[in-house]
Amino acid sequence: MGKKVSKQRAEEIRRQHEVEEEIRRARARPAIPSPPPPVSKSRCPQCNSPFDPALTNFCPRCGYPQSPQGAELQAPPHAAGPSFLARAGVVAGLLALLFFPPVLGAVGVLLGMIAYARGDTRWGIAAAVVSVFCAGAGMVIGVAVMEWVQSARP
Ligand SMILES: [Zn+2]
Repeated sequence: MGKKVSKQRAEEIRRQHEVEEEIRRARARPAIPSPPPPVSKSRCPQCNSPFDPALTNFCPRCGYPQSPQGAELQAPPHAAGPSFLARAGVVAGLLALLFFPPVLGAVGVLLGMIAYARGDTRWGIAAAVVSVFCAGAGMVIGVAVMEWVQSARP
């Protein structure tokens, strides 16, 4: 009985020594930086969940676009409304209806074009169209008002 216990104890010590030896060797090992896990196309860069790029361009878990093409395709729907430039263009275009149609209309078109160039294609076009339309309408209104004022002269 005592012999068995001491045998088990010896075995335990031997295992412990093995573990310690393993730790010592691991520590002595030169720190070879393990290569970072390759950014696989099959893992979401945002939440790191696996996905099949052949099936979807978007992470099934968080909806993150998985490819540059996917990001581009996904960008417009994600853009929260018109950009500042497009908004300014629409405002300028609407003001062109009442004040200095050629000037504010041109400003609105220009802002819309800049917004378009910066990626806000939908609202950039909208701002330019609104500006052109309002500038034209503003000029027609302006001419009509001037004719009306002149016609009232004695
Ligand atoms: Zn994800």
